[in-house]
Amino acid sequence: MDFEKLIPIIDQTREEVIGYRRQIHENPELSFEEVETSALVKERLEAWGIPWKSLAKTGLVGEIQGGLPGPTLALRADMDALPIQEETDLPFASKNPGVMHACGHDAHTANLLGVAKVLNQIKDQLPGRVKLIFQPAEEAGGGGRDVVKSGVLDDVDLALAFHVWVAPEGQIRIQEGNITAYSDAISLDIYGKASHSSRPKEGVDALFISSKVLDNLYSLKDRLFNPQDQYTLSLGKIHGGQAINILPDHIHIDGMIRSMDPKVRQDLKEMMEKIVQEIPRLYGGRGDFVFKEGYPSVYNDPSLQKIALDYLKNNYKSIVKDLNLGINPMYTQDYLIDNHRVELGSEDFGFYSQKVPSLFLWIGTGLGPQAHNNQFMINEDCLAYMTRLMVSLSIELLKTHKEERDEEK
Ligand SMILES: [Zn+2]
Ligand SMILES: [Zn+2]
Repeated sequence: MDFEKLIPIIDQTREEVIGYRRQIHENPELSFEEVETSALVKERLEAWGIPWKSLAKTGLVGEIQGGLPGPTLALRADMDALPIQEETDLPFASKNPGVMHACGHDAHTANLLGVAKVLNQIKDQLPGRVKLIFQPAEEAGGGGRDVVKSGVLDDVDLALAFHVWVAPEGQIRIQEGNITAYSDAISLDIYGKASHSSRPKEGVDALFISSKVLDNLYSLKDRLFNPQDQYTLSLGKIHGGQAINILPDHIHIDGMIRSMDPKVRQDLKEMMEKIVQEIPRLYGGRGDFVFKEGYPSVYNDPSLQKIALDYLKNNYKSIVKDLNLGINPMYTQDYLIDNHRVELGSEDFGFYSQKVPSLFLWIGTGLGPQAHNNQFMINEDCLAYMTRLMVSLSIELLKTHKEERDEEK
């Protein structure tokens, strides 16, 4: 299937995808409340004759069976918005007070609708099957975990997802290996015995002990890890005490750790637990440590990354042709970034990448305020670009994955 011949078919969806994005942007819904968004997706899939099923409460999965034999590819778009009051002057700014699409999931959903329409039109020539996963609750609640639990990936061979990225239009961040962090919640409870401030020896000061615990936790990195081991430990909440003249008997602390390496994550968990339990004991108190597993790191499968990167190196010019995104075709190599520095953000696509070989790409949609900012905005001319990219990469991944498997036989 020649990509040049696909461009006119893809471009027919251009205005339509912009329309979906505006409609979704104007009507943002929080995690696991994506009722209207799902309804729009269902209505569109039905109009195009694509069968679908409900998935993970408010999500759904559509399925396109290609006319040629091949593997099964899952394409994932997340649909939820954030509890943020929008402060843009867009004519289609959020109509829901306090809720905003500030992470670009409106673009992801609209794009996947465009991709669905195109792939369905050319399905006779498609070498394999495509599952279109419209996922709820990426931001809060781990919809990705529920998607994997539902079994929808059990017969999937590979998965692909895009995320908008605050970067020049057209840039693609395409790296192998762990590309987002494991993000886990922790909580600490330090218990002592209350006493009057004039008689500290009669009590066990939980606040004093907490200061010793925190001091040890914060200095762990310097002495008990290698300088290359990357993680952040950020404690965001602390509660305790009732009066200025009473030494508190209980301090509660909540925070997050983010790490890139499963070994570092495990070591960190064990060392923190030890510190939180043993230091209070020295002073006659007690410490409890809770580690709540959050999103796993997104892992880009090296062979999928290579297939996609090689394909993009050879085809970038035709993919961006006539898109007017200000991309200089002389310097296409500058648009394919495969060595970006590690960032410790997290994404629940990590659940997918634990289950099947996966590829997650960041797509530059213009510079401006960062995601989760109340003025976050994308250049919507990038939607056509995203659709061209996802359609072409889907076909390439299906085709190449099939060829590799045929060779193995
Ligand atoms: Zn987000
Ligand atoms: Zn996001």
